[in-house]
Amino acid sequence: MSREQQAVARARKAFETGRSKSVEYRINQLKNLQRLFSERQKEIAAAIKKDLNKTEVGAQFYETLGLEGEISLFIKNLKEWAAPRHVKKNLLTMSDTVYIHPEPLGVVLVIGAWNYPWAVTIRPLIGAIAAGNAAVVKPSEVCVHTSKVMEDLLPIYIDKELYPVVTGGVPETQELLRQKFDHIFYTGNSTVGKVIMEAAAKHLTPVTMELGGKSPCYIDKNCDISIACRRITWGKYSNCGQTCIAPDYILCEPSIQNRVIEEVKKCIKEFYTDNPKTCPDYGRIINQRHFKRVMAMLEDSNIAVGGENDESDCYIAPTVLRDVKPEAKVMQEEIFGPLLPILPVSSLDEAIKLINKGEKPLALYVFSPDNKVIERMRDETSSGGFLANDCLVHYSVSALPFGGVGNSGIGCYHGKFSFDRLSHLRGCLVKKLKMEGVNDMRYPPHTLKKLGW
Ligand code: NAD
Repeated sequence: MSREQQAVARARKAFETGRSKSVEYRINQLKNLQRLFSERQKEIAAAIKKDLNKTEVGAQFYETLGLEGEISLFIKNLKEWAAPRHVKKNLLTMSDTVYIHPEPLGVVLVIGAWNYPWAVTIRPLIGAIAAGNAAVVKPSEVCVHTSKVMEDLLPIYIDKELYPVVTGGVPETQELLRQKFDHIFYTGNSTVGKVIMEAAAKHLTPVTMELGGKSPCYIDKNCDISIACRRITWGKYSNCGQTCIAPDYILCEPSIQNRVIEEVKKCIKEFYTDNPKTCPDYGRIINQRHFKRVMAMLEDSNIAVGGENDESDCYIAPTVLRDVKPEAKVMQEEIFGPLLPILPVSSLDEAIKLINKGEKPLALYVFSPDNKVIERMRDETSSGGFLANDCLVHYSVSALPFGGVGNSGIGCYHGKFSFDRLSHLRGCLVKKLKMEGVNDMRYPPHTLKKLGW
């Protein structure tokens, strides 16, 4: 038996003991996970620093604080979410008990990505634990140090039989994918997403796909451009542009392009100093492969700000590109790096047309003081999430479903959405063995007399 087979078999066996069905047991596991974050912050942050050059505060702000909040929410609400949900009855079932009984799916496979390695791997795990499942956790091999810390720490704090960590790259993941799971929760790019779905189809395993794409950002000429650019600069260059919901490109009228460039430039200087390379708050591209991928997008472009780079350090300066055409290289795939193309468009109509020509994005941003503009953008496009006058922050609202649509993903999670996604919502009806008379009319022979007609 391979290491991967063993982990899945152990998780299945642990699930079959039934211990994860107890809500108290689940809450205890979540509390242990919470303890991991309060006691091991230094180790977590040190690994993130090595992988992505984030500061300790940055690691806390973008990764662990959100997870701790999510765990608290689950601990507070789990009893209520896991309880039977009584539903409206019809005439035929008036005297019955009719309810939804959430039950665990079984063994879930969580495959994480590298860009916010804790956030995107542990959030699905929180949902899996809360819903009473076993879960095999596969962190991304790309964030080498974090993956090792996860492998070392999780078994110390949570049930290592129910929630084993399997590290490794493509061969290990593919070996895992040959096993039978009851749900696969994948975060990563859309191309690999298709590989995962193909493997899942062999076992008819349901999937959640948290993917990416090109998230557009429209700036209305009538808005406060300085505030808009401040928020966009933050959303774009955090984690060196390696954020699934980062604004990928800007759409605006030509008359404001220069102003946008100047304002973004001003914010880059304010956030990351004159020399972002030496600024502790500015990240690095994860590895040389991604460095080369992002640099190749600069080939046919017109650099307005930045462009400096250093391959040996995986450094690419915060960069703005002007007068970009839809056919440009940088517009052909998700950038996932610190390049911000500006595409001049003649109107809101043209912006909407252009957005609708592409795949449905994970997030869509519009900056405007005018509700009509905001509503038109919302109603005439589609995307996983929609934000007006800010970037990224919808991710932090646990009451909102987080997920993509079309090419940007399948299914949503966060808070109760995670619980429901990783539960089977079993429809239940309990009838008494009395009052058989009222059922007479449903049994043959069917006569009008029986119906009282
Ligand atoms: P990655 O390279 O770490 O891959 C993700 C996972 O897939 C890893 O665990 C990896 O081992 C596995 N994998 C890779 N190739 C595989 C293969 N051929 N067969 C089986 N498994 C394989 O991460 P990535 O894909 O570079 O991540 C970046 C992408 O993820 C971006 O597109 C980004 O937008 C998206 N993303 C989405 C979200 C979200 O919540 N929607 C969050 C983070 C990242």
